Amino acid sequence: MRIVKGSSVLAMAVALWALPVGQGDAATTMPMAKVDAARLMGAAAEPANWMTHGGTYAEQRFANLDQINTANVSKLGLAWSYEYDTNRGQEATPLVIDGVMYTTTAWSKVIALDAVTGKELWSYDPEVPKDRGHAACCDVVNRGVAAWNGTLFLGALDGRLIALDAATGKVKWSTVTLDQSKPYTITGAPRVVKGKVIIGNGGAELGVRGYVSAYDVETGKKLWRFYTVPGDPAKGPDGEVSDAILKAMADPTWDGKFWEAGGGGTVWDAIVYDQELDQLYIGVGNGSPWNHQIRSNGKGDNLFLSSVVALNPNTGEYLWHYQGTPGDTWDFTQTQPIMLATLPIDGKPRKVLMQAPKNGFFYVVDRETGKLISAEGFVPQTWTSGVDMKTGRPIEVAGQRYPDKTTALVSPSALGAHNWHPMAFSPKTGLVYLPAQEIPGAYQTDTGYNHKPGAWNLAVAWALNAPTNSLEATRATRALLKGQLVAWDPVKQKEAWRVQYDGPWNGGALATAGNLVFQGNARGKFQAFDATNGKRLWSFDAPSGIGAGPVSYMVGDTQYVAVSVGYGGAWGMAGGLPDGPQRIQPNGRMLVFKLGGTETLPKYVSPELAPPNPPSETFTAQQIAMGKDIYEGNCGICHGGGARSSGLVPDLRRASALADKTLWSEVVHGGILRDQGMVSFAKWFSQDEIEAVRAYVGEQARFLASDEGQKLAAEGALGY
Ligand code: CA
Repeated sequence: MRIVKGSSVLAMAVALWALPVGQGDAATTMPMAKVDAARLMGAAAEPANWMTHGGTYAEQRFANLDQINTANVSKLGLAWSYEYDTNRGQEATPLVIDGVMYTTTAWSKVIALDAVTGKELWSYDPEVPKDRGHAACCDVVNRGVAAWNGTLFLGALDGRLIALDAATGKVKWSTVTLDQSKPYTITGAPRVVKGKVIIGNGGAELGVRGYVSAYDVETGKKLWRFYTVPGDPAKGPDGEVSDAILKAMADPTWDGKFWEAGGGGTVWDAIVYDQELDQLYIGVGNGSPWNHQIRSNGKGDNLFLSSVVALNPNTGEYLWHYQGTPGDTWDFTQTQPIMLATLPIDGKPRKVLMQAPKNGFFYVVDRETGKLISAEGFVPQTWTSGVDMKTGRPIEVAGQRYPDKTTALVSPSALGAHNWHPMAFSPKTGLVYLPAQEIPGAYQTDTGYNHKPGAWNLAVAWALNAPTNSLEATRATRALLKGQLVAWDPVKQKEAWRVQYDGPWNGGALATAGNLVFQGNARGKFQAFDATNGKRLWSFDAPSGIGAGPVSYMVGDTQYVAVSVGYGGAWGMAGGLPDGPQRIQPNGRMLVFKLGGTETLPKYVSPELAPPNPPSETFTAQQIAMGKDIYEGNCGICHGGGARSSGLVPDLRRASALADKTLWSEVVHGGILRDQGMVSFAKWFSQDEIEAVRAYVGEQARFLASDEGQKLAAEGALGY
C-alpha cells in the first residue's frame, strides 16, 4: 500500500481509495495525472507513459517500447477488457499516466482505470442532453482528455469544457465554450500548452462559424479566441485576436452572404503544439454550406477554410497558413491529424509538419515558414492532377466543381481519403502509417437550397449518393469502396507498402520500437504488422469494428497495448458496417494486451431484429421522391443511407412507428422520443414532408422484405 508523503489526510484517503498502481517506494507516490510543462516536453524520454493525445507534443504516435516486438508478437494476448455502457462509436485515444488509464467514451463520459487490471477507479458522466446528438454530424463520439497537474480536461458534446480532479473525477470547473443555441458540438481532445487548455468545436455540416479558444487551466477563464473565417460585417469586429488577420487577409477571399450559415471552418480535431518553435498548429475544416457556388458566389479562396493555420500559443496571434483546398466545395476538411518531425530534405534536416487530409494529398510543410515542401496523392484523385509547387495550389480538373446542373463523381469525397483516424510515424523506419480509403461521392448543387438554421445545410443534393435497391448495383458500389493501411515515405513522397482491406473506415495506427504497427479495422480485427514490410504478424477478433488509435505503455516490467473498440462515426453510421448481416452492435470496450495474456471476451449474441414493417398504405411516386430527398439529407447520417441502419440506432424499416402514421408523426414531428436523442423535426419540415419520409422508408422496408432484399441482407455489408 502506498502513502502520499506530506499530504493532507483527505488526499491520502483519496490515494488509498483510488489504489494507484505501479512500482516504487511507498513514500514516493505521485498524485494522479501529475504532468507539467517539463514532463510533457520530455514525454519522449518517458515511453512508459502516454501523457498527451498523440503520445508526445509531436503527435507521432510512436511508442518507444520494444518488449513486444516482431519476434514475439504472436504471443500477445488479452490482459483485460472493460465494457462501456454504450454501443455508439468510440474514437478516444486513452492517456496512461503512472499506471492509471484515463479514457472517454461516446456521450463524453470519462473513465479512470487501473492500467494493469482494468479495475474502474472512477467514472464521470457530464450528462449531455441526448437531444444534443442531433447537432453531431458524425456520431456522439469523443476523442479523449488532456491532463495537467492533477487535472483532466474534457470537451463535452454540448460545448462545455470541464476540468476534473484526476484522483476522483470530481468537477473542478466547467465553462461553456460556445453558443449552445447553435448546432455546435465538441468531439475532439483538448490539448494543454503551458497552463492553457486549447479546444475547438464542430458543426460545419449544419452551419456554424469555426474557432479555437484557449482557457486558463486553473480557472477556466477564456484567454484568447481565434476565429477561422470572417463573421457578419454588420456586427463589426469580434474583439478577438483574429480580427486583424481576418480583415487583412481573409475578408477579401469571401463573397456573398456567407455569414448566414456561419461560413464553417471548424477546428474539430488537430491541435498540435510545437515545443521547438513555440507554435500551435490547428487544422481547419470545410465551409458552411459545402457548396462554394452558394456559400461564396463561387468566388475566392475562402480563408482559412481547409487550411493548416499556425498560431502563437501564448496570444493566439496568426503566424502563417497553408491552404490545401482553396474555395473548397467537397467537404475537404484539413482537420486531419498533424504530426511534427525533423526530416532529411535534400540532404538537410528540416523541421516539418506532416498531414494527409481528406483531399488525398500527403503534405510535408516547413513549420518554420509555412512553405509547402512537397505534396503527392496517396489514393486516386479525380479532382486534381497534382500541386503546382510554385504556388502551392492544387491543379484542378475541370467539371469537378459540379457547376450549374451538372453532377460530378468525385474521388476522394466528403468521407475523405483519410479522415480523423490517427496516423503514426516510426523514426526507426522513417515511414508514416496512414489509414487511407477510397469512397467516391456524387456532387450536384441543391437547387432548392434554403438555409434552415440548426438542420443540415450542405447546399448539395446528397440524395444522389443513396444506395439503390438492386443486388447488382449494391455489389458494384461495394466493389468501389476500399480501405488500406499505407506505409508512406514522407521524404520520397511515395508508398513503401500497402495492406488492402475489404472496405473503408478502418482504425488509427500506432508504431512501436518493436518494429510493429498496430491497427484495428472496420471488421473488428486488431492486428500487428511488421513496420518494415507490412507482413501481418498477429490478429485478434474484437467484438465490433475499430476506429480509435491504439496506444502502448509500460507498468512495472510489462508492456501493454490498448485500443478502444466500438464502430461508429460518420461512415460507421451513414454508410453501413462491413461486418456481415445486419445486427444490433454490442457495447464498446477497452481492450488491453500483453505478452502471454490469457483473458477472453464473452461471446456477444445480438438480440433478434424485428422483421421489416412496411406501412399498409400506398404512396405516390412524388411522395416517395420527396421523402428520399429529405431522408437522405437529414436522417440518413444517423439511421443509414437508404434507411439501412448499421446497428447503432434503430433501423427505421423495422420500427413499429413505420406502419403507424400517427405514431410516426408523434415521434418525428411531435418529438416524443427527444430524451432518447430523436429530436422533433417540426421546425424544419411540415407534416406532409414528414409523411413523405415515411413513404420513402416504407418503400425501403418493402424492398427489405422482398426476395432480393433478403438476398442482400444475407450477404451483409452496406448496412443490410
Ligand atoms: Ca465536414
